[in-house]
Amino acid sequence: MTSQHPYDLNDVLSSKRGAFRIPEGVIYLDGNSLGVLPAHVPARLSEVINEEWGTSLIRAWNTHSWIDLPVRTGARIGRLIGAPAGTVVACDSTSVNVFKVLSAALSLRPGRKVILSDTGNFPTDLYVASGLKQLLDKGLELKVVAPEEVKAAITEEVAVLMLTEVDYRTGRLHDMKDLTRAAHEAGALAIWDLAHSAGAIPVDLAGAGADFAVGCGYKYLNGGPGAPAFLYVAQEHQDKVASPLTGWMGHEAPFAFDLDYRPVSGIGRMTVGTPAVLSLSGLHAALDVFEDVDMADIRKQSISLSELFIAEVEARCPQLVLASPRDPQARGSQVSFRFEEGYAVMQALIAAGVIGDFRAPDVMRFGFTPLYLSHQDVVDAVGILAQILETESWNRPEYRTRAKVT
Ligand SMILES: *Cc1c(COP(=O)(O)O)cnc(C)c1O
Repeated sequence: MTSQHPYDLNDVLSSKRGAFRIPEGVIYLDGNSLGVLPAHVPARLSEVINEEWGTSLIRAWNTHSWIDLPVRTGARIGRLIGAPAGTVVACDSTSVNVFKVLSAALSLRPGRKVILSDTGNFPTDLYVASGLKQLLDKGLELKVVAPEEVKAAITEEVAVLMLTEVDYRTGRLHDMKDLTRAAHEAGALAIWDLAHSAGAIPVDLAGAGADFAVGCGYKYLNGGPGAPAFLYVAQEHQDKVASPLTGWMGHEAPFAFDLDYRPVSGIGRMTVGTPAVLSLSGLHAALDVFEDVDMADIRKQSISLSELFIAEVEARCPQLVLASPRDPQARGSQVSFRFEEGYAVMQALIAAGVIGDFRAPDVMRFGFTPLYLSHQDVVDAVGILAQILETESWNRPEYRTRAKVT
């Protein structure tokens, strides 16, 4: 490191940086999309492959508790999102978990017709809701309003309020507690997608009275590409809900091989098939880095990093327009700027070692992950961005060609 920003001197999380493998010359501002590799995970995965799978073989389901990995991993995530023991399980993808919890929630409000969501939701959540609505064929309506209109749209017709807490494009943060209370007052249930919250900001599911939640394992939780997701079901609903995917892992006694389905009591009934042991083991191990971390410290540092980023960008890159809320309390842990040629600028930035991402039509997105980012990184990243904009070095055909994943 050539220089050190004065704010980094009292960074209580700075000791965590060495826990991650960050490539030389890279400033990684995309931990909101794919978290970086925790340094100890390769050795742990190698152990799982060579010792557990290679040597213990099928015995490892018991001897290495593979069978309990979804619940053991869920418990570690639960600590970060204010979920009591036995309310979180790690399994499947976020999209599949949206399907399961939305179906379960709807089954608790049989007389009501409306699924309420907003335009800030991640498309997969809306696609899944729309597909489930068609499948159920009960005249349900998927109502999608602007984020600021959600509260007023919570009426007694709403069965389920389904929102993503932190907007994936702008970082705008919904007030989970307030909206959940409004949903309950109208007799509706609330589902929260924590894809951009878990590991990024303090979350208090139990304190907010959330009914269901889902979230990603590969974003701020650093579980690796395609890592299993998680889902939460409030204690009071667990034995009342039915999963729409009644697989044997959710059965009361999978190894009794009964011909009839009987859901197990508790969160386990939301699991479906054989757990993905390798990727769950990676996620479980990745969560080690959070064990001695206070989410309040992460939040404090994330705000400090993102405030510095906004100030630096606005001072040095006047071409860019802030797309995130200016009030840090109204943002998650990411900051976005709009620029018409944002895609090409982001490609030029990535080529220079500063990795963020782009969301159509014109949003350049930067994630702040205090476990492995410093204030000096922020200043250095903006220096490179300013230079790219000044020299227009982004204006080259190779930076304009869109890849499959942006
Ligand atoms: C990233 C993200 C997802 C991704 O779902 P997958 O099933 O893992 O592809 C879902 N919801 C939100 C809000 C996201 O940000």
